Amino acid sequence: MLVLNATYEPINVCTVRRAVVLLLKSKAEVIEQGERPLRSECEVMTRPAVIRLTHYVRVPRDTHRRKITRRAVFARDGWECQYCGSRQQLTVDHVIPRSKGGSSDWTNIVASCAPCNRRKSDHLPAQANMHPRRPPREPSPHVFIHVASPRIPAAWRPWLPDADAYADAA
Ligand SMILES: [Zn+2]
Repeated sequence: MLVLNATYEPINVCTVRRAVVLLLKSKAEVIEQGERPLRSECEVMTRPAVIRLTHYVRVPRDTHRRKITRRAVFARDGWECQYCGSRQQLTVDHVIPRSKGGSSDWTNIVASCAPCNRRKSDHLPAQANMHPRRPPREPSPHVFIHVASPRIPAAWRPWLPDADAYADAA
């Protein structure tokens, strides 16, 4: 289930079970319906595909603490090496190498193809003359929606206008 904030901003992906609980408690409404109805022992309800929270929730500003995974880094960086644009052999690179005190957070990790990673090696960006195309930053919630659900259902697309930007072309 894609979860929208009260402002229609996509914020999360949740399980069907969780969505049903929110709907039954009137904490959410169905925005897009799925194709088949949901059946339980005693009732049939429309299967939600996109739900919207009835009350605005502050999206925690701790996205930087959301787990950094290879997939999330690649999705944020559009599945492109941030040094040469290649979409092959992606790895993750510390912009400031760990050996030079670089941190392992969103602002210091980028997608890099294996050849660029080898070329940059243990050097600072200025030493290697290799600078990321886009300064790395904390990703938007959309990135995590993509990582949680690599295949974006058609019903979600109107709510994720930039869905293709994060799609894994491989
Ligand atoms: Zn590269």
